[in-house]
Amino acid sequence: MSTTLWSTLAPPAPPTEPLRGERTADVAIVGAGYSGLSTALHLAEAGASAVVLEADEIGSGASGRNNGQVIPTLTRHDPDAIQKRYGEPWGGRFLKLLVGSADLVYERIRRHGMDCDGVQNGWIQPAHSPGRVNLARRRVEQWAKHGAPVEFLERDRLTELTGISGYHGGWLNRSGGHVNPLALARGLARAALSAGAVIHERSPAIGLVADRGAWRVTTPDGAVRARRVLLATAAYTDDVAPDLKRSIVPVRAYQMATRPLGDNLRKLILAGNHAVSDTRMDLRFFHYDRAGRLVSGGSLALPVMAEERMTRQVARRLAQAFPELGEPSFDFLWSGLIGMTPDRLPRIYRLADGIHAWIGCNGRGVALATALGRDMAALLRGAPEADMPLPVTAPEPIFAQALLAKLGRAALPYYRWRDSREIG
Ligand SMILES: Cc1cc2nc3c(=O)[nH]c(=O)nc-3n(C[C@H](O)[C@H](O)[C@H](O)COP(=O)(O)OP(=O)(O)OC[C@H]3O[C@@H](n4cnc5c(N)ncnc54)[C@H](O)[C@@H]3O)c2cc1C
Repeated sequence: MSTTLWSTLAPPAPPTEPLRGERTADVAIVGAGYSGLSTALHLAEAGASAVVLEADEIGSGASGRNNGQVIPTLTRHDPDAIQKRYGEPWGGRFLKLLVGSADLVYERIRRHGMDCDGVQNGWIQPAHSPGRVNLARRRVEQWAKHGAPVEFLERDRLTELTGISGYHGGWLNRSGGHVNPLALARGLARAALSAGAVIHERSPAIGLVADRGAWRVTTPDGAVRARRVLLATAAYTDDVAPDLKRSIVPVRAYQMATRPLGDNLRKLILAGNHAVSDTRMDLRFFHYDRAGRLVSGGSLALPVMAEERMTRQVARRLAQAFPELGEPSFDFLWSGLIGMTPDRLPRIYRLADGIHAWIGCNGRGVALATALGRDMAALLRGAPEADMPLPVTAPEPIFAQALLAKLGRAALPYYRWRDSREIG
């Protein structure tokens, strides 16, 4: 795994061994990110045996590489749209899960004493145009109806809380915040192991075959036989599950961290230690790590000269948002893959009897994946599919997925054009 900021700050991962030989379990889980680990933790706590197979290291996918913002919403869909899309009972259930998702993350952090720099001071979404201020008001109204601890922020209040420039107002969800994301993944792994789950790193699943009423998940040096399988491989899904791979477009996103800021700047910039991400489709986002670095990032339509271009882009955007900062210098740059669906909504899939997956975080998976682990564990222990917070369907292949995966962020110029237009 290449060096990320988070790997220099996180406590070490619990030691695990690659799988050697055959073993059996109630559930085999492929992938040790938040989805696989949270599901394993809930399964083990309920007395079911779970074996997690990870191709690389715990948190080496998006879970250890993300920005660490704990955001209890989706990127695009607001509560009315979610309810319209799913109807009942799904709409109400899914909204309940989203509203409680950040609290669930922080409750788990406290309960298991995870050393992951968890800060629950709230998540703020500044509005980048006057029309987006109306959007922020609508978001507050809609989330408040579902019990979320939200508040509209006039421009002056937004500036007072964050010191940010160039925005017109915004809104706050007090249950959100930020974490060291890799340390959260390692904390979930440690909690799952203590509860009785088994994790094998450097154990890629390379085959998945039916075996006398169960499934056999093979790795280079062994196999797990289980009645139920969860594919928790998200944007890193490989050819072991071709139908799942075709249902998602992996998109590369870059992360950067500045040098630690001095106390004088920290009194002016994000003094309340909030997590912030704005209303743009080409998102601008910021929060502090434990050493006072600003952690931000962005995307490129084409990944050429990525380091130079990202550095220029992120430096310019940080200086626009926080003019006191001047021209920032950076300590870290890294990247990871986000799993996108065409409509920006997540899916729970049944790939065959006994094989399930959830996929499509669309960039908002820290809270969602951790919270969904509870429901996926219930499903894998035999709860009816009809009781899930989202409909359980067959995978939906995306037209020209392989080409879209190669093109990456080709839609970025369109997003920037949309961001520059006003909405009602
Ligand atoms: C750069 C970036 C920034 C982001 N920022 C945020 C943010 O601030 N807030 C937020 O809410 N969300 C954010 N996200 C999204 C969030 O990180 C993801 O939604 C979440 O981590 C997904 O967790 P997961 O467990 O489903 O997948 P992952 O963490 O990606 O885990 C999948 C795992 O499966 C493993 N795997 C794949 N194939 C195999 C195989 N055949 N055998 C064994 N193992 C396999 C991979 O090695 C990987 O470890 C961001 C994502 C990225 C990439």
